[in-house]
Amino acid sequence: MARFTLPRDLYHGKGSLAELKNLKGKKAIVVVGGGSMKRFGFLDRAVGYLKEAGMEVKLFENVEPDPSVETVMRGAKAMAEFGPDWIVAMGGGSPIDAAKAMWAFYEYPDVTFESLCIPFNFPTLRTKAKFCAIPSTSGTATEVTAFSVITDYQKGVKYPLADFNITPDVAIVDPDLAETMPPKLTAHTGMDAMTHAIEAYVSTANCDYTDGLALHAIKMISRDLVASYNGDMDARDRMHNAQCLAGMAFSNALLGIVHSMAHKTGAAFSGGHIVHGCANAMYLPKVIKYNSKDATAKARYAQIARELHLAGDSDEALVDALIAHIKGMNAKLNIPTCIKEYEGGIIDEAEFLSKLSAVATLAIGDACTGSNPRQPSQEEMEKLLLACYYDREIDF
Ligand code: FE
Repeated sequence: MARFTLPRDLYHGKGSLAELKNLKGKKAIVVVGGGSMKRFGFLDRAVGYLKEAGMEVKLFENVEPDPSVETVMRGAKAMAEFGPDWIVAMGGGSPIDAAKAMWAFYEYPDVTFESLCIPFNFPTLRTKAKFCAIPSTSGTATEVTAFSVITDYQKGVKYPLADFNITPDVAIVDPDLAETMPPKLTAHTGMDAMTHAIEAYVSTANCDYTDGLALHAIKMISRDLVASYNGDMDARDRMHNAQCLAGMAFSNALLGIVHSMAHKTGAAFSGGHIVHGCANAMYLPKVIKYNSKDATAKARYAQIARELHLAGDSDEALVDALIAHIKGMNAKLNIPTCIKEYEGGIIDEAEFLSKLSAVATLAIGDACTGSNPRQPSQEEMEKLLLACYYDREIDF
C-alpha cells in the first residue's frame, strides 16, 4: 500500500494570486520573508484579496532564510493570539516551511519539536486552520509537499519535517511572483527542483503516479532552466510549473542522499551556509555515479538519459551522459563543481575534515536516506562527502 497526497486545489498561471479572494474564512495570518514580496507589491495585493474575501488579516513578517526553531515558536505564538482560520504563507521556501511548522504548534501548543522530527508523526491538523501556500521561487515546491526544513542553530543541523498533514490545502503557483527572482536564486532553486525530480525517479518509493511527474519535470527543467537563468521570462514561467511537478513527485516518492548530504552540510561550517540548491547541484553528479552501482537505479538513470535524448549505447554510457548533462547545466548556471570552490572557498578545508565523520553520521541518519537506492556505510558517506569537497571521481 502506498499513499499519494496533493493539495485539494492548485491554481496556476499568471494572475492566479487573485484566487485568494475566493477563500472562505474569518481571519487570515500572512507569513512572509524579508521583504521582496512587499517590495514588488505582491504582499499588498495578497492582503487586498483576503480583505475582499471578507477576512481580517494579520501579517507575520521577516521569516529569515533557513528558518529557525525560535522563529517557528514566535509565529505559533502570534497565531495563538490572533486565532486565524487560514494560514497564508507566501515567498521562497523559508516562510512557507516556517509557517507549516508554526501551524503544528498553533494547533498543538504542547507538541515538541523532537516529536515532529520523527517522520510521519504529526498530530492531525486542520482543527483550527487551513493552509494556503504561494511560492515566489521555483525550486522547493513546498507549496505542494509534505515537507518543511527547520534549522536548529544551536546544533547547526537542518531538520526535514515530513508528514502529509502539512501538505497545504491550497497552492497558488503564479509565475508573476517568480519573475522577481535574481539570476543566482533562479539557478540554485532550479537545480534544487532538478534534484527533486531525479531523486524521486530513482527513489525506492517511486511509483507510476510519481514517475510521470518526475520525468516530465526533468525534461522541462533541462529545456528551460538555463534560459530562465539568462532572463527568458517565458522559460521562467514554465520553470514555476516544472518545479511544482517535481514537488508533486518527490512529496510522494521521497528523496535520496543528495538531500541528506545537503541538509547536513548546509549549516555545519563556520564560514557560512552552503545554499540548499547549490549544494544539491554540486552533489548530484557524485551521487548519481555512486547510486548507479545499484542495478535498478542504473536502469532508471539510463531511462532519464533516453528521455532527454542523450547519446549512449549502454546503460553505463547513458548514466555517464546524464552526469555530463548535469555538470554542463551547472557550468552554464555558474554553479561551482565542489564545496572547495564554493563562494571563493568559504568552507575551510581543515574544519571540513575535522567535522567529516560527524557530518557523515548525521547524513546517514537523515530522513531522506531511507529511500535512496543504495544505503551508504559510514566509510562510503565520508568518501562521498570528500568527493564533493574536492571534486573527486566516484569509483566505489
Ligand atoms: Fe530540496
